[in-house]
Amino acid sequence: MRAAVLTEPGALSVVSVPEPSCGPGDVLIRMRGTGLCGSDLAVHTGRRRPPSLPWILGHEGTGRIVELGSEVSGPRIGQDVVIEPDYCCLTCEPCRAGRTSACAGRAAVGLTVPGLLSDYVVAPAAFVWPVAAHLPLEDLVCVEPATVARAAMRRSGIAPGQSCLVIGAGSQGLLLCQALVGHGVTVFVQEPNKARLDRARSLGATPLPPDVDELPCLFETSGAPGVVEQGLRRLAKHGTAVLIGMNTAPLGVSPRDLVAGQITLIGSMIYDHPVDFAQTVSALESSTAPRLGAVVSDGYPLDDVQEAFTAAYTASGKVWVDLS
Ligand SMILES: [Zn+2]
Ligand SMILES: [Zn+2]
Repeated sequence: MRAAVLTEPGALSVVSVPEPSCGPGDVLIRMRGTGLCGSDLAVHTGRRRPPSLPWILGHEGTGRIVELGSEVSGPRIGQDVVIEPDYCCLTCEPCRAGRTSACAGRAAVGLTVPGLLSDYVVAPAAFVWPVAAHLPLEDLVCVEPATVARAAMRRSGIAPGQSCLVIGAGSQGLLLCQALVGHGVTVFVQEPNKARLDRARSLGATPLPPDVDELPCLFETSGAPGVVEQGLRRLAKHGTAVLIGMNTAPLGVSPRDLVAGQITLIGSMIYDHPVDFAQTVSALESSTAPRLGAVVSDGYPLDDVQEAFTAAYTASGKVWVDLS
């Protein structure tokens, strides 16, 4: 089968690799599409090291089941699915408490186990979600990052009628804008890239005016310390800051400012199994929910995966690879 492999930082090629074999609890999936996001780019640039090279990237995927493991009951052959690409252990204390995002034994597809940019993948049956066959691939490749956005919104406790600031309108920021607007929240957005800002506006967000502060909630997707600090200064007393963007550089914020501002800081790591994926998947067929594919800007065939990654750094929306 074909797979896009990273051979060294910045260098991707499409090669022929053996098809994976289906374990007893797994399903074999013929992939149809895989989205690209910031964590793929972090591996692509070499900022984040994969366990080995060559390495198959990608974790935002959809496809069709073509084989069932011997112990699998439930999913059927021919079923279209999206993959929940964080295989938590389901037995440790955080998993049993419903905080699977904190599972120390979690396998992260594309980061700690091989990714989804290949013709076929195997996935544990417990981590594939059936979806209707008529849904556009552009919507389905956004299910995973939309679940990251929805989990951040859930953890913030933000209520309809409130307002917030979303920093960054890359694909994660755009999906946050879309989810928050759909929740009845007034969304201000801060983003230096004009095309991304325009796309955020088309989703119902308002570019942040210079005089708006005293906001009850901040969603930060850039991870850039100076930008995070600016965002924190826009919060009202008792405000909540939800940090989603990752960075290893330290934040320059004083304990005094956090204490005096009575700020709640939430580090929002992916999502928790199964509640968050269940919600995103059930909203896919709602006639009132916005189409996730509205955040997609460009699709590329697998043979053009290098161009897809190059485009993803600056594209106005989500870039995905069509494997169908
Ligand atoms: Zn992602
Ligand atoms: Zn666990």
